[in-house]
Amino acid sequence: MAERFDCIVVGAGPAGISCAHDLAKGGANVLLIERGEYPGAKNVMGGVLYRKMMEDIVPEFYKEAPLERPIVEQRFMMMDKESALNFGYKGMEWSKEPYNNFTVLRAKFDQWFADKAVEQGAILINETVVLECIVENGKVVGVRTDRPDGEVYADVVVLADGVNSLLAQSLGFHREYKPDEVALATMEILKLDKKIIEDRFNLEENQGCTIELFGDATKGILGTGFLYTNKDSLSIGVGTLLSGLIKHKIRPYELLEYVKNHPMIRPYIQGSEPQEYLAHLIPEGGYKSMGKIVGDGVLVIGDASQLVNAIHREGSNLAMTSGRLAAETILLAKEAGDFSEAMLDRYRVQLMNGFVGQDLKKYKDSTHHFDKFPQYFDAYIPMINKAASQMFTVDGKSKWEKQQKIWRDLGSAKEKMKIARDVYRAWRVIK
Ligand SMILES: Cc1cc2nc3c(=O)[nH]c(=O)nc-3n(C[C@H](O)[C@H](O)[C@H](O)COP(=O)(O)OP(=O)(O)OC[C@H]3O[C@@H](n4cnc5c(N)ncnc54)[C@H](O)[C@@H]3O)c2cc1C
Repeated sequence: MAERFDCIVVGAGPAGISCAHDLAKGGANVLLIERGEYPGAKNVMGGVLYRKMMEDIVPEFYKEAPLERPIVEQRFMMMDKESALNFGYKGMEWSKEPYNNFTVLRAKFDQWFADKAVEQGAILINETVVLECIVENGKVVGVRTDRPDGEVYADVVVLADGVNSLLAQSLGFHREYKPDEVALATMEILKLDKKIIEDRFNLEENQGCTIELFGDATKGILGTGFLYTNKDSLSIGVGTLLSGLIKHKIRPYELLEYVKNHPMIRPYIQGSEPQEYLAHLIPEGGYKSMGKIVGDGVLVIGDASQLVNAIHREGSNLAMTSGRLAAETILLAKEAGDFSEAMLDRYRVQLMNGFVGQDLKKYKDSTHHFDKFPQYFDAYIPMINKAASQMFTVDGKSKWEKQQKIWRDLGSAKEKMKIARDVYRAWRVIK
């Protein structure tokens, strides 16, 4: 296979496909290598697809892409063992073109998206694992694959191989991530009749809803759960930091079973049939865990460079944006005939000056903070539920009496000060 391309992109997820699409559209000769049987075969996401970043690559994609439902409602559940405080937003403006966000199933969506890159002229090869980058005189000049005679050469190699990128690690771009820098998420796709979904979630045809789950969904461990509506299935999942699972000696599938059987969730999924079980890591170290993302002849994009905003469950949009910006820089480098780190660094600058870098910096201390102070999830959410129960139970006591009881339940003056301090600290890390 000893061939030469302008660019090799490793990994056909949202990051790699976006990059290959825009490179091919810009006239570059690009090879996209995927280890799975097809793009999406190994990919996992809840998953919410963000329209804006997708439209930056394929305008009006929603007219032809295999989408599940436009999301018209986002709900949040602060869960205790037998209760939940709910809030959210539903807007009819999101049910019309150009919509806001969509639920998708990655196995279908990634295949369609990769076809769009192929239509632009990218060459896609599946079932091929990139084993290592070929480095000559400190410059990446190609990749070695697991195919016979599997060396391929290019002016630039883009690493879009996802969380834990072994390829970037072997170049010394980042260290092995610690258990408090990655989350492990497990999820199931549950088959359920379309009409039942619409009735249960108060939706009309071609409307979708997402519910984010906090607190008891993860048994108070730092993390979140989710329940999303697809056309005729539901996606349900739960993800927590690996360090939390280790510390609490809980297996991820036990946590998923727990959520499925939770009294606040069980009625939504009743009668559904498990269709698929999936598990995947999510990079959650954020800005502080990012390694080097540019070198001579090489760029790192998407999850491979820790581009996930865990607070807002955004990942695919950061991946797509990084792929688009990497392609832009490579096309300029091609014009200049210069693939040095100095030239390719434009990608890093654009990425970090845009919303991706700004958001990562904004939340740079959040994972660490909420991991260090577990009381937000295991103490304060139950406390809020208890207060809501007292306030909303009509039992002949005056509301004034109830307020006083809630205040007393917060504990001594010292304990109240601690809560006030924690609220202030949380505000500081997410403001
Ligand atoms: C349970 C779960 C729920 C999520 N929910 C959401 C959500 O609702 N919205 C959202 O925006 N994000 C969500 N995310 C995050 C999102 O999935 C990722 O941020 C996104 O997929 C990153 O895209 P990527 O292209 O960088 O990596 P990936 O999608 O992981 O793609 C990497 C690709 O590289 C291939 N590959 C890896 N190594 C090699 C190799 N050596 N050779 C060849 N190919 C290789 C893989 O097979 C894969 O196809 C979720 C993640 C999980 C796990």
